[in-house]
Amino acid sequence: AVPLVIAKSTALSARHGLLIKNRTDFENSRRITSIVFDKTGTLTVGRFEVVRFDTLQAGLEKEQVLLLAAALEGSSEHPIATGILSKVKALQLAAPAAESITAITGKGISGKVNGKEVMVVSPGYVAEQLRDANTTDIQAGETLVYVVVNNAVAGFIALADQIRPESAGAIATLKENRIKTTLLTGDNRVVAESVSKALGMDNFIAEVLPHQKLDKIKTLQQQGEFVAMTGDGINDAPALAQADVGIAIGSGSDVAAETAGIVLVNSNPQDVVNLILFGKATWRKMI
Ligand code: ADP
Ligand code: MG
Repeated sequence: AVPLVIAKSTALSARHGLLIKNRTDFENSRRITSIVFDKTGTLTVGRFEVVRFDTLQAGLEKEQVLLLAAALEGSSEHPIATGILSKVKALQLAAPAAESITAITGKGISGKVNGKEVMVVSPGYVAEQLRDANTTDIQAGETLVYVVVNNAVAGFIALADQIRPESAGAIATLKENRIKTTLLTGDNRVVAESVSKALGMDNFIAEVLPHQKLDKIKTLQQQGEFVAMTGDGINDAPALAQADVGIAIGSGSDVAAETAGIVLVNSNPQDVVNLILFGKATWRKMI
C-alpha cells in the first residue's frame, strides 16, 4: 500500500508539473547535491533555426551546401535536421535525393548524394577525423555543423536555439539551495560555455557522446555527489538510468520518459526545484 503522505504528495506533485513514476527517485530527491542538465531540449527549447550558412570551397554555391545537408537530414529526427529542412523550405528550394544514410552517433550523419560521399558533422568530428580542413570560427551561442563532401569540408551551417525562459530561475534557485549544476552536451564548447555562463551554472562539459554522459554521472557519484540527471533525448537515457534521480523533460523522447523516475510534464526546468522542495517536505511529514 502507498503511505498516505506519499499518495497525497503524488496528487500535489501532479499539480506542480511532476509525474512521479518511481517512488525511490522521488524519495531520493531530497538528497540531491548535484544536478546534471542536458542542454538541447532541456535547458533550451530544442528548436534550431539556421542563422547563417556558407561555402568553404571554391566553385561551390552557398545554396548547394544547404541542399547537400538537407538531402541527408530528411532522414533524421535530430533538431538540427528539422532546422536545416525548414530553412530549405523557407527559401523554396528542393533537396536532391540521398541514399545509404547512416547516423554517426553523437557526431552527425552520412550518406551518398549524386555519387558523392556527404557528411554533416560536428566541429569535433572535423577536428578529429579530417586533416587540414577548412574551418570557420564558431560564434557565441551557435551550434555549427560542417558539410563534408568526399572527405573535404565544403561549407558550414550555423544554427541557434533559444534558452528556455524558466531555465535561469531554476538554476538560480538550485544555487541558493547549494546544489551544484553542470551542463552536459554533445554540442560544441563555444555554445556549451555561452549557455552555462548565461545561466550561471557551475560547470559545463561539451562534445560528449551518450556513453560519456553516463560516465560523467558515475564520476560525480564516485566523488560522493548524490546526482540527478535531467534530459530529454534518447542519448540521455543511459545517464538518466545511472543517476540517483532521473528526470525527463515531458516534451522529449519516449525513451527518456520511460527511463527516468520523474517526468516534468510541462517541460519546465523550474519544476526540478519543486521536486526537491516536495521531496524534503514529504520526508519531514514521514519522520
Ligand atoms: P545533444 O547533447 O546536444 O543532444 P547530440 O549527441 O544529439 O547532442 O549531437 C551532438 C552533435 O553531433 C551535434 O551538436 C551536431 O554537431 C552533431 N550531430 C548529431 N546529429 C546530427 C545530425 N542529424 N545532423 C548534423 N549534426 C548532427
Ligand atoms: Mg537534448
